[in-house]
Amino acid sequence: MTNKNTPVCIIGAGPAGFTTAFHLAKVGIKSIILDKDISPRTKPCADILTSISLRELRKLFPKFTDGLEVSKRLANSKGVIIHAPNYHQFTMEYLPEKGEDVPLCYALKRSDLDVFLTEQARANPLIELIEQFNVKKIHRENGIVTLSDNKGRSVETPLVIVAAGSNAPLAGQLTGEKKDFKHFAVGVRAYFKNVKMPQTSNCELFIREKMMPGAFYIAPFYDDTMNVNMVMRSDVVKKKKINIKELFLKMIQEDPDLKERFKDAEMIGEIQGSGLKLGTKTRKASGDNFILTGDSAGLIDILSANGLPQAFLSGRLAAEFAQKAILANDYSAQFTGQFDEILFDAVDKYVKTGKLIAPFMDKSWYNWATKILINFFAKRMQTNDALRDLLMYDSDAKHTILKPSFYLKIFFRSKNPDAESHLVS
Ligand SMILES: Cc1cc2nc3c(=O)[nH]c(=O)nc-3n(C[C@H](O)[C@H](O)[C@H](O)COP(=O)(O)OP(=O)(O)OC[C@H]3O[C@@H](n4cnc5c(N)ncnc54)[C@H](O)[C@@H]3O)c2cc1C
Repeated sequence: MTNKNTPVCIIGAGPAGFTTAFHLAKVGIKSIILDKDISPRTKPCADILTSISLRELRKLFPKFTDGLEVSKRLANSKGVIIHAPNYHQFTMEYLPEKGEDVPLCYALKRSDLDVFLTEQARANPLIELIEQFNVKKIHRENGIVTLSDNKGRSVETPLVIVAAGSNAPLAGQLTGEKKDFKHFAVGVRAYFKNVKMPQTSNCELFIREKMMPGAFYIAPFYDDTMNVNMVMRSDVVKKKKINIKELFLKMIQEDPDLKERFKDAEMIGEIQGSGLKLGTKTRKASGDNFILTGDSAGLIDILSANGLPQAFLSGRLAAEFAQKAILANDYSAQFTGQFDEILFDAVDKYVKTGKLIAPFMDKSWYNWATKILINFFAKRMQTNDALRDLLMYDSDAKHTILKPSFYLKIFFRSKNPDAESHLVS
């Protein structure tokens, strides 16, 4: 292949890119996906598919959670155990989707998800997946964009959908946006076996002062291996000159709640790192002949580090918009500008609470206040539905936190009778 052309070219065979291509194919539109890597792509991630991700996946593959090979590798997760800085803990159980038969949450290794999506793409005659094509140059002339790599290959298209993740500089090159460390995070992830787990299928979140605002996370898989990861905001890492890989290992080796559990643990492979472009500010997601999806558009929720639901959702929206642009034969910035509104309106409810809280994270009292609150909840409660609803499900957090009834619910719960047993001596 030296030169190809296509009605739509997608950069990035991640969840956002694949979803875009599948939805385009559903309405009979051909696309080419370019990816710099080959499958299985092992993107560092906590590997959690929430009910929103599962709902989007089942729109494309109704049997995704049952009946397919991949479903055997899905590990059910019912909630998350929050380990507070004072070594007490409480649980936040996931809520079922209203009126929908969608499982609550699964852990699935990204390599397994990638193999599945890659196989589906290869089997689809309307999708051409070209791997090991690292897009290095984007040139626009007379309404046509030429995407080239360093090996003399190129693809011409009137519409580029950038789904190249958080790390790729392509989105910034197109929109002119500079990296803003306050709206970016950094994460590391490693897989382990032989970690001692509590008798539950829950994930676990550890909040510790030295990594705030940020957290350490464990997700168990179907085969008794674990995803262990840590995410911190980039400006804090930079300001405090933190070596995040070192801090990650220190947590495992020294934290009173973790060191015993990791005593016989074995790391599988290496610690891998990645950036997270946070949905804590509104960005531009379009321009002449291009639109952005998934992490490239900066859609990750700062509170949960979840970006997959938004990647699947934005992929679907990008495909719908591409169809409109093809029909109108209009790829101008004026036309594609409509996509910004469609995208941010749809995604807003998933990042809204984080967007509301993020500016306070810069304040000197934020870590101190968060610590006191989390310690308070963990010491007195087994679970906190009001906090769970605010952090995970509230699409109107701005108003919820102004209601006195919210504070009654959040603070006045029964004392946790088991709290003492979680204390580290
Ligand atoms: C530590 C960590 C934990 C996380 N945990 C979760 C979680 O549990 N649940 C959740 O929902 N989200 C989580 N996320 C976020 C989630 O991983 C991302 O939101 C998601 O992967 C976004 O998908 P995407 O398709 O936009 O980008 P990506 O998955 O990053 O895919 C981008 C693709 O583009 C390709 N690419 C990049 N540049 C080029 C180029 N120049 N040319 C060609 N190809 C290119 C890459 O090879 C890659 O395949 C986590 C992130 C991190 C870092």
